[in-house]
Amino acid sequence: MRYIRDIYAEAAAAQRPVISFEFFTPKTDEGEENFFTRTMPGLAALRPDYCSVTYGAGGSTQDRTFSMVRRIQTHFGIPCMAHLTCVGSSREAIAGLLREAQADGIQNILALRGDPPEGATAFEPAPGGFRYASELVDVIREVGGFSIGVAGFPEGHLEAKDGREADWRRLQAKIERGADFVLTQLFFDNEFFHRFRAHLTGQLGVTVPLVPGIIPILSAGQIRRFTALCGASIPDALGRRLEELAGDDAAAAAFGVEFAAAQGADLLRAGVPGLHFYTLNKVASTRAILERLGLAAAGAAGEAGAAGT
Ligand SMILES: Cc1cc2nc3c(=O)[nH]c(=O)nc-3n(C[C@H](O)[C@H](O)[C@H](O)COP(=O)(O)OP(=O)(O)OC[C@H]3O[C@@H](n4cnc5c(N)ncnc54)[C@H](O)[C@@H]3O)c2cc1C
Repeated sequence: MRYIRDIYAEAAAAQRPVISFEFFTPKTDEGEENFFTRTMPGLAALRPDYCSVTYGAGGSTQDRTFSMVRRIQTHFGIPCMAHLTCVGSSREAIAGLLREAQADGIQNILALRGDPPEGATAFEPAPGGFRYASELVDVIREVGGFSIGVAGFPEGHLEAKDGREADWRRLQAKIERGADFVLTQLFFDNEFFHRFRAHLTGQLGVTVPLVPGIIPILSAGQIRRFTALCGASIPDALGRRLEELAGDDAAAAAFGVEFAAAQGADLLRAGVPGLHFYTLNKVASTRAILERLGLAAAGAAGEAGAAGT
């Protein structure tokens, strides 16, 4: 399999955007089988350059994350990245997980801190564990053999009370410590991304790929829940439109496709290195957005991408 840093470098040389898909880990074995038999074949047919699999809140799905990454790589021939958080693990436990990942052919890790558990206001490191994602980047580098991604926040991280520029300096530190690329939190106003990129590249001298994360709106309620959790804002005009569509999820999803396609088109015109789709494990909306962008099946994944499980 390939390092994601190489995928971005080769696509930049060929002047084409990298298309990546993020999946969340289903909670049950049945959910996972359903994902592999119904969802994954449809998404693989769109031939993303790479995929990524989330690490459950509280570190609850770590086994499933790694096994899904392996299965996507083996059965679909698509490079896949494991998300990994600092939640609940000591340094030794994380180093052990990384060696396990290496032995299983996992070469790409998204290094994250993770969120405080539900109800808690502050993140508390596990005994012998890490307080910040930058420390996770260090240990991944030490173990070696991985391309490393990190999270970036165009509106600033929710907990960064000293402002978004302070948060972006800490992102710069994660990059200096060894991250190869940045995937951003979702946002609905591209101006946030443009300012984020201008600051990081112009003021802070960052040169690694800064990749916007795009989420398809599926319903008004879903987007309000997500933005409350991650701190992204809903622009007034979008908020009003979502109010009008409340109660009609089909219309909200159709609007969501148009909104994400327009957002993606603007970002591509601005020369982003790729688009990272939070697929929410849904085929239809992701496919419709890519079709509108003229990017369905545009990625570099091999023909095996459509082969099924
Ligand atoms: C693309 C993407 C994928 C994600 N996938 C997952 C997932 O699979 N599982 C999951 O649980 N969560 C996931 N998350 C959410 C993520 O875990 C949370 O957003 C978390 O709150 C912050 O993670 P981080 O890696 O950015 O943390 P950090 O980079 O550690 O930053 C956390 C906070 O600490 C501050 N900070 C950092 N360093 C310092 C320092 N030295 N001194 C003082 N303050 C500092 C930062 O400004 C920020 O406010 C994802 C987020 C994104 C954008």
